[in-house]
Amino acid sequence: MIYDPPEANEIELSVFGPGVGESAAIHVGGGDWVLVDSCVDPRTQRSASIVYLENLGVNLNKNVGWIVATHAHNDHVRGLSQLVDSCAQATLIVPQASSAEEFVALMKIDDERTPYGTRWSSYSEFRDSFAILKARHSDYRLLARGAASKEFPPGASKAGANVSMYFVAPSEVAVTRSVVEFSERIRRFYSPGVSTLPSQDPNTFSSAFVIEAYGVKLLLGGDVEAGSSEWGWVNIANNYAYVNEIDGHKVPHHGSPNAYEPIIWNSWLKSTAVNVVTPYRSSRRPRPDDVSRMRSHGHELWQTSNSESIAASKRAKRAQAALSGLTYSKVEVVGGIMGQVRVRWKEGRSSVQTFGPAFQVV
Ligand SMILES: [Zn+2]
Repeated sequence: MIYDPPEANEIELSVFGPGVGESAAIHVGGGDWVLVDSCVDPRTQRSASIVYLENLGVNLNKNVGWIVATHAHNDHVRGLSQLVDSCAQATLIVPQASSAEEFVALMKIDDERTPYGTRWSSYSEFRDSFAILKARHSDYRLLARGAASKEFPPGASKAGANVSMYFVAPSEVAVTRSVVEFSERIRRFYSPGVSTLPSQDPNTFSSAFVIEAYGVKLLLGGDVEAGSSEWGWVNIANNYAYVNEIDGHKVPHHGSPNAYEPIIWNSWLKSTAVNVVTPYRSSRRPRPDDVSRMRSHGHELWQTSNSESIAASKRAKRAQAALSGLTYSKVEVVGGIMGQVRVRWKEGRSSVQTFGPAFQVV
């Protein structure tokens, strides 16, 4: 049954993805959850993680201590403000560069150019999330940064000392590069003939972290790219060692070759590690050669839905039209049914269940 909550001593990693968009929900023990990124069901526009936890009967206000936004990229933050709104006591963790003046300026430009409710953007999702937290007067934001970042114990969690999060990205250089990129965007925006902001932020910005709960270690890779010795996976592999320690792995950047780091696959993952990838249909990732590369290491690999492009369902288009105020024919939805890969660990053993179009990649 899909709606059976994990037992207190079971650790769960659920990854959601309908074709474009991904999010994860992690049960860290004792009924407490950490949410990572957000994606919405194209048919309902509701955040997949929220719907799932509600169906499990989780008290969102009480039992979600942490929400991590890995980066301000469209396919990772859609519905983020729903998470922040629904989970009254959760602390939001965002990449450090999103506290920079340049990022705030981009959110402001986006706000001025796109009157509320007329067009969705990743900036508007961050802006709305920050506004909700500000209205709550909560000391809300923690800033993820590799190297200098302290461990974040989910303090609100009953699990307490048995849970920790350690950010391995973004590095100092990645934070600086992101801020430089933001200011370049602002400069370009004010050059003649330009009226819109690019909708995607660089993946340099993305955070990645290891969360450990009751001895189970999960690597959440965000969209971090391979990079160099100064940032990305090469930097991570040079500076951190989780040799033969990782039990579960959310594969970075939809299995793209530009996010592949052999040291992670050869050395960090336990032989029993479970890997989960979400597709990005617009670029057909993961492609067959991506799958072969990942599978060449011999680990289990699961995918939330297929990578092929499919047309939006009429129902998804109608729902989107009603919500956006656009006419039906103007609505562009990349179609898809929400898929979920659910991995649970109990006494060192994993078991995997799939829902919707999710499947094991062989
Ligand atoms: Zn992505």
